[in-house]
Amino acid sequence: MIEIPVELGERRYPIAIGHGLARLLSDVLSGFRGRKVLVVSSPRVWGLHGTTVSRGLAGLAPGKPVLIADGERHKTRATLDRLHDAFLARGLARDGVVVAVGGGVVGDIAGFAAATYMRGVAWVGLPTTLLAMVDSSIGGKVGVNHPKAKNLLGAFHQPRAVVVDPDFLATLPAREVRSGAYEIVKYGILGDRSLFRALQASPPDLRQWGRAELENAIATSCRIKADVVERDERERNLRKTLNLGHTLGHALETVTQYRRFTHGEAVGWGLVGAAFIARGRGLASATCDAIASTVDGLGPRPKISDLAPKAILAAVARDKKAEAGRVPFILPTAIGRVAIRPDVTRAEIRRAVKVMAGREALLG
Ligand code: NAD
Ligand code: MG
Repeated sequence: MIEIPVELGERRYPIAIGHGLARLLSDVLSGFRGRKVLVVSSPRVWGLHGTTVSRGLAGLAPGKPVLIADGERHKTRATLDRLHDAFLARGLARDGVVVAVGGGVVGDIAGFAAATYMRGVAWVGLPTTLLAMVDSSIGGKVGVNHPKAKNLLGAFHQPRAVVVDPDFLATLPAREVRSGAYEIVKYGILGDRSLFRALQASPPDLRQWGRAELENAIATSCRIKADVVERDERERNLRKTLNLGHTLGHALETVTQYRRFTHGEAVGWGLVGAAFIARGRGLASATCDAIASTVDGLGPRPKISDLAPKAILAAVARDKKAEAGRVPFILPTAIGRVAIRPDVTRAEIRRAVKVMAGREALLG
């Protein structure tokens, strides 16, 4: 087992990573013994892994799980309401513990429900998608969507523990594996050359990766995210760098009404775009090509060539991270280093979108 502490003073918590950990939950979470434990999951995830998790948690007597639909379109206030109702009906009190078992959608809603119920009860993340393992379960951002804006309603509410069992990934569709892998490429670019090289050498969908490779990639990603969150929990500065690939990525998600791309796929495209913008500003062309070909090498992504560049530019301009009308772009300056740049012009973005669309033909 690999344990990564997230050092946040009184709110410090461990990320435990290891194959088979779901079977040992009662031991890993023994600190919660005697408290009421309530599991939140989705019918799909619970159908696949409920038996394992139930057995693993048996020592904590969790009772029946609360199941919520986990599509992005269910990440709503209505689902949040249902969870609060269920917490109350099950007698969850201030010392209760919510255990979120699922992907980022389940984690974000269950974490936000925990943040708001009785002014905040404890929660534990048990991520079951690769994206949730390396990204959404860490850092304490929780929330739901508003019909007009994604993640508009939310809070910072750190979990008490995150338990990552890569065995869950055995049932994850290849497309969802890729989605998480693009976020791992992001971490490689942000801060770890050997992680980047491992992805560069990887076959599509991380196929043929052994347990150790997978565990290491997850652990390195978690370490990078934990380190950033420790130094800038509230995203005043450094945490913004985690947005690498997300400015263009979010724009692509918006112009396609969140229907065409998974979040990770949009980020994959966004990483390619950020690399080309950086290239125009002096990033070595070999590094830019390495980023683009590493993203492409992980497998296909839905196309972008039919999207109007104008619509993408407009969506970038509306980015919720805009400050004083300027959207800060995170640009790679080398593998392992990025810079925050508020002065990326429309012309630079337009050129990048054109190059991205041109690369589409290279994808299988
Ligand atoms: P998701 O939660 O929608 O899960 C994707 C699909 O995989 C779902 O259909 C789910 O049922 C299924 N699934 C989950 N685990 C499975 C398993 N082990 N086997 C088979 N199928 C499984 O998607 P996601 O990519 O995990 O999360 C995306 C969400 O995370 C978005 O809402 C995004 O906003 C959020 N997010 C939050 C943060 C944060 O910091 N809080 C960061 C990144 C993303
Ligand atoms: Mg992301």
